[in-house]
Amino acid sequence: MTETGRRRKVIIAGGGTAGWMTAAAMGKVLRDVVDVTLVESEMLGTVGVGEATIPTLVTYNRLLRIDEAEFMKAVRGTFKLGIAFENWTDIGHRYIHSFGVTGKDHWTAGFQHFWRRGREMGVAKDFGEYCLELVAAERERFAHLPDFGLNYAFHIDSAAYAAFLRKIAEAHGVKRKEGIIKDVQLTDDGDLKSLEIDDGSRLDGDFFVDCTGFRALLIGEALGVGYDDWTHWLPCDRAIAVQTQSVRAPVPYTRSIAHGAGWRWQIPLQHRTGNGIVFSSRHLSEEEGKDLLLSSIDGDVLTEPRVIRFRTGARRAQWRRNCVAVGLSSGFIEPLESTSIHLIQRSVMRMMQMFPPGGVKQADIDEFNAQTFYELEHIRDFIILHYHLTNRTDTAFWRSCRNMDIPDTLKHRLALFGQTGRVFRANDQLFAENSWTQVMLGQGLTPKAHHPVADVMSADEIASFLDHIDDNVQRTVAGLPSHETYLNTYCPYTASA
Ligand SMILES: Cc1cc2nc3c(=O)[nH]c(=O)nc-3n(C[C@H](O)[C@H](O)[C@H](O)COP(=O)(O)OP(=O)(O)OC[C@H]3O[C@@H](n4cnc5c(N)ncnc54)[C@H](O)[C@@H]3O)c2cc1C
Repeated sequence: MTETGRRRKVIIAGGGTAGWMTAAAMGKVLRDVVDVTLVESEMLGTVGVGEATIPTLVTYNRLLRIDEAEFMKAVRGTFKLGIAFENWTDIGHRYIHSFGVTGKDHWTAGFQHFWRRGREMGVAKDFGEYCLELVAAERERFAHLPDFGLNYAFHIDSAAYAAFLRKIAEAHGVKRKEGIIKDVQLTDDGDLKSLEIDDGSRLDGDFFVDCTGFRALLIGEALGVGYDDWTHWLPCDRAIAVQTQSVRAPVPYTRSIAHGAGWRWQIPLQHRTGNGIVFSSRHLSEEEGKDLLLSSIDGDVLTEPRVIRFRTGARRAQWRRNCVAVGLSSGFIEPLESTSIHLIQRSVMRMMQMFPPGGVKQADIDEFNAQTFYELEHIRDFIILHYHLTNRTDTAFWRSCRNMDIPDTLKHRLALFGQTGRVFRANDQLFAENSWTQVMLGQGLTPKAHHPVADVMSADEIASFLDHIDDNVQRTVAGLPSHETYLNTYCPYTASA
């Protein structure tokens, strides 16, 4: 513990996406109050995945004043307007969860109520047709529009992203130490005191950030914080990742394709494609998973398929004593909605908002943990939704997902939407009404009713309201360049970048 007024020594253990995101932000924002050292081991490496993001990363980049075109070139990035879910509801079915707003809400009722009325009248197209981002994604078009008119995220090369952040962090005074942490020393009252490195050196710190990934060396091993297991809701526990040469122009969306025991991803970058399969090892062996992945991908394989074992769940405390867990050390929901990098960003921002002026205060710890849990549980429910709300009964995996008992919070959401078409976003929850609506409709839940305010409009008014939105979407999308053309002018990747 430290007295107010002295520069704090912050030690970041681990240099994956979590470590370097933390280091870049701390270096840039808290440079005058902290000395930051990051220790990582090239020999141990990083998890090496985590390439699809959500729009909040645009905000993170802006906060750190990162030039977006430079960032995109460095990470060989492409733009992402949403995720296409294939075979999730039924084999052969497909929908997109886009980052956009669909239609136009009234303050009493979301657009889905007016759309439902239009559907009953036979004048409404598919729900997604009223969303600019979704239609642009389908037509593979992209451009920045004025006033943040298009909501987007990025596909990034995770190794290149860590290297990019490292440059920012080091330019802002963060020191990097290469080595393997061999031991962790505690003070007499149980706080973290120092890390012993395999070259015989020691790193003393006042405040520690555990970014050691699934190893959780500080928060788990040294401080003994347990882990809540969520595999009864989120049964996938294996992934196999492989990179391939691209065989076509990059699409501006992530593909998530369900199979008999989980799903697989396809993430297009400028210089290659990231692929992976996620599955439940109780339903598919690693050998079968590898065969399934290799038989489903296009393009020449560039890397050896790599197995990643994980357990979905959350660390029981994200902050304990003078240690905050960020990234995979803090838990892992699973990559279906690309939320992990977002959660890293949220933890980093929260940690900086609550950075202790002197010694660590229990009230800060409690607040941090409460906010983080609230956020995690909301995201957890959203992911469970995709597995549970399915018509698939073709395999034991899908039958067990359909029949599993889900959290009460999610039960309530499904009942509310199913009976009334209503969706509410509480406080600061990540997924807004339109995300829930798109996925619930996409997974086959159609509301039994709509708000009476939608009946106040005449049939002609409903039809022209829907046509007007549709016209705007079509006109705007028609004016956008192709995603590939835009990448080639805005942020072309060159091998020297
Ligand atoms: C299959 C899969 C797919 C994913 N896809 C996405 C996605 O699309 N989008 C998304 O947002 N997230 C995704 N994630 C999550 C994402 O990969 C992680 O959140 C992100 O990479 C951060 O990882 P990390 O930095 O916590 O851990 P790691 O990358 O594992 O880094 C750990 C660091 O700690 C160091 N370290 C560990 N032990 C020691 C030691 N003893 N001494 C010194 N250093 C040590 C390692 O060398 C490394 O530098 C995915 C995860 C998985 C498993």
